[in-house]
This record gives sequence, C-alpha cells and structure tokens, in this order.
Amino acid sequence: MTRRSQAQADIDDDAREGKRQKMEEEEVEVSASAPRAAGPVMQAFEPRHPDLWYRDGNVIVAADGMSFKVHAGILEKHSTVFRELLDDTRPREQPLGVFEGCSVLRVDDHGEDLAEVLQVLYDGGSGGFFDWKKPIEFPHLRKVTLVAIKYNVQHVIREVIARLGYMFPSSFEPSRLKLHHYENAQPWHPVRFSHVGEASTVVVLARAINQEEPPAFIFMALYHCLGMKADVLRHPDHQDEGWSLSHEDFVRCMLATDSLVAKCSTVRGCVVDALQKPLCSNESCRSGVQRLVCDWIQRGMFSDFDVLRSCDHELRKQAKKHPVHKLCKGCEKTFIRAIDAERREVFADLGKTFDIPNWPAAQVQPQPSA
Ligand SMILES: [Zn+2]
Repeated sequence: MTRRSQAQADIDDDAREGKRQKMEEEEVEVSASAPRAAGPVMQAFEPRHPDLWYRDGNVIVAADGMSFKVHAGILEKHSTVFRELLDDTRPREQPLGVFEGCSVLRVDDHGEDLAEVLQVLYDGGSGGFFDWKKPIEFPHLRKVTLVAIKYNVQHVIREVIARLGYMFPSSFEPSRLKLHHYENAQPWHPVRFSHVGEASTVVVLARAINQEEPPAFIFMALYHCLGMKADVLRHPDHQDEGWSLSHEDFVRCMLATDSLVAKCSTVRGCVVDALQKPLCSNESCRSGVQRLVCDWIQRGMFSDFDVLRSCDHELRKQAKKHPVHKLCKGCEKTFIRAIDAERREVFADLGKTFDIPNWPAAQVQPQPSA
C-alpha cells in the first residue's frame, strides 16, 4: 500500500478502509462469464491455490473449488478474454468486486483446470507444457485446451495443435499413419492416449478450437475413427457430455469409409495387374503372385477401408510363408513402390474424402504437367 505523508490523506484512507471492511462483509459478488451464488466473502476464496496466490497479486480469480491471486498484467498479456473481463473502462452490469484491494473475478471453471493454464502463463515451459520430452496425457491436454479456448490463450492452443499434429500428421509419414499408432504410447510421443476411442474426442476438440476451419490434425483423427463401432463414435467412454462426434462428422466417417473401400482395389491393384501381365519371367515369382492375390482376396485386403496402411510387411510375409513360391525381390520392390504411390495419392485426397477445407497435404500435390 502506498504511504502518504499528509494527515488528511491518512484520515481519508482510514475512513475508506473502515468503509471498505464493512462492505467486504457483504459485497464481492462479481461479474464474470458465469455468475454464481453469493457466499460469505472470507470463505469464498478458499481453498487458495498454494502457488498461485501471490502476495503482490492484484486480481483474485475465484473459480470452482479454487481461488488464485494473480497479476492482471499477466492475464491480459496472454488472454484477450481476460483483457476484456478486467477492462475498467468497459461498461458492465455489475462492477468488478474488490477484496483487500484486489479486483475479484468469478469464473465457472474447475479450479484445477484453470490452475493448469495459469501455471503455464506464469512459468512457461518449466512445468513441461512446452517440453516434448514430457508427454501429456490426452484427457489432461483436453482440459487445458478447453480453458485455453475459453480465454483465447493462443500460444497454449498453438502448442496443443503442434502436439496433436505430431500424433495425427498432415504430411505423409508412414510410421505415423498406422491405424492405432497413437494408442501405443512411445517415449517420443508428445501426447499419450489410453484407448483407441479417444480419436473421436480428438475430432471434437479440433471442432472446439475452430468449428468451420478445424486444425489439420482433425483429418487423421477422423481417419482413425473409421475403424470404430458406431456406439463408440457416438458415445465415447468419458463422463463429460457433448463429446461424441457430431452428426455431420459421423456422416463424414461413414461416407469416407465407403469411398476408401472403393479405392482399395486401385491402391493395391498392382498385384492383380501382375497376374495378367507378369512383371518378370521367374516361374516361382509368378506362382507367388497367384498365391498372394488369392490370399489377399480371402483376407479382404482389396475391400479394406484402411488403405493408408503399408503393405510392405504383407509382401515380405508372403515370401516367408511360401519360400518355394515367393515373389522375386524386383517384383516385391515394384509392388511396394506402386502401392506407396497410390497411398500418397489417397493421403493427398483426404480433404475431399472428408469434405473439409484446408487439407495441407493437398497443397503440396504435384501439378499435372501441361
Ligand atoms: Zn518377379
């Protein structure tokens, strides 16, 4: 508190102090995005967050189950929404409350979720949020993202997009396109998923970030949804409501499944073509191709929606399975290359497949020469 020398100022201050103490016993119900019922002032700010209660803080943020005494400057620097909420000049129905000289802002966020974002604002990367060596569990990332969206904390949202963009890439990265790639947590994965059904939650999160132009991780997240059952897609396994795929995205998944299954015989068609037009004159290789095609038909390999899947392993396995009737190395390589080229095309086409704009991979597609 500023000390003033004039006696009059002291008297005025004392008078104000007395008046304020009186008021504090009654007032401090405050505006914010969601008003709550009034409670006794002294208890309203309990429990206080052990770290985020700064002695020199000038704004108290009272969330659900936790309060914080922080600095308006920090909130305003990173969040346009806090900037607006704390703007003294903004006309508002109820003025901001005051407690011990601090503005009081009541919000309806869960205290623990809000604490996560405030920690990131204060200590940046030291908590590990910007350190990819420290993977984040997806449910946790989702909570942080929702708070960051609500308060428009752009650098946190960008980090979420980057982390999920690694798990659901928008460039052709064979090792990261495998169905279920994201659920088998590896040490270098920036996000950890506990079960395969979380892909649909990733889609919903992408829509929460931007409904009309969602971030690019939505495309592969949708692709991962294709293998799921309808009741998983529509009712994923967590308690929060509103986290199932929207009807529109559900329809997208169904139409995309249909379209990809139709493409499958083209993507893997080179092996069928080789039945009619053998690529080499090696007898063992020719009978190898026959067995391969027969085997793939029986296993539904030509009517599979998962066309981005590599067939390298399948082709090599064939050689092991039938050592006498195996593909020659040359043909094996030709098949792998041909299927790979088709997979890249399917990948570049995912924007059309899902009917969502701004698919980054589509932009790098080579232009047909004139
Ligand atoms: Zn051959």
